[in-house]
Amino acid sequence: MERYSRQILFQPIGEQGQAELQNKHVLIVGAGALGCGNAEVLTRAGVGRITIIDRDYVDWSNLQRQQLYTEKDAAEGMPKAIAAQERLRSINSDVEIKGYVMDLNAEQLEKFCSGGIDVIIDSTDNFETRLLINDASQKYSIPWVFGSCTGSYGLSMAIIPGKTPCFRCLLPKLPAYSLTCDTVGVIGPAITMTISYQTAEALKLLTGNEKAVRHSLVIFDVWNNDHMFLRTGKMKNEACPSCGDMRAYPALYEEGQKAAVLCGRDTVQLRQSHAFDFEELKQHMERINQPIQMNPYLAITQLEEHRVVLFRDGRVLVHGTKDSVKARSLYQKYFG
Ligand SMILES: [Zn+2]
Repeated sequence: MERYSRQILFQPIGEQGQAELQNKHVLIVGAGALGCGNAEVLTRAGVGRITIIDRDYVDWSNLQRQQLYTEKDAAEGMPKAIAAQERLRSINSDVEIKGYVMDLNAEQLEKFCSGGIDVIIDSTDNFETRLLINDASQKYSIPWVFGSCTGSYGLSMAIIPGKTPCFRCLLPKLPAYSLTCDTVGVIGPAITMTISYQTAEALKLLTGNEKAVRHSLVIFDVWNNDHMFLRTGKMKNEACPSCGDMRAYPALYEEGQKAAVLCGRDTVQLRQSHAFDFEELKQHMERINQPIQMNPYLAITQLEEHRVVLFRDGRVLVHGTKDSVKARSLYQKYFG
């Protein structure tokens, strides 16, 4: 226990909190900047199990702030879920860590939740996935910790089914600028601040300190020196379709995951109904005389002025466009 001695000395956690922590399973959705930081803090703290899900791969522009990744990961185009898994395992081999390369949908999320998750950490970059997490959280009664970060500002709050308003209830109160997909860049200190708020609430929930959870939405801007706490006690909407009396869980059953244009990324995601056979793909690319670079998880090629990435599970990312019709026709031109 030498490893966790400083955390055990911290009175609200103590031996008992540490023991509880080691029996908990955390699901982290997203392995970008927030996912990396949340995962590292919780791995070092000694959570029992961490499952981390991400749909993307490591790119050079990620290295400025995504603390688990190295230049080697970017050069090899490693999927973030795998690169994060490897790095986290080397940080703390006590923790059972599993990364999944997937674009989370309702069915998969329900499978994870029904398998026994204690806390979900939101590290996504889009509201569609947050609404999905929110509905699953309510349906399976699992608390989750919302976190969002853009530019120099961030937001965070722990959402506990039956005790706090849900995320859908809060939506009308969120600042409009946090809802857009505009690319305004982001700086490291805003991210680490968001991660601190998220992991503090997660540690409270995981060590039997739910009473210490903050019942307000924190909104801050580390550049313009604003920091405020919005009380959320009265924000619950009794008619909310996610947490109200007549629940329908619309994100799980109706809204679907069809948005193909990735938020602020100049990238379109296409889905093929079949998984890719990489051996076949390699032969095809040789026949049409196009270069391709592969690792066990994904294949990267350059088609005209677009970088195109094909994942084993049948997803395709077409970079350099926001036009889904153009992306689909480019794909069809080369792959039929
Ligand atoms: Zn609600």
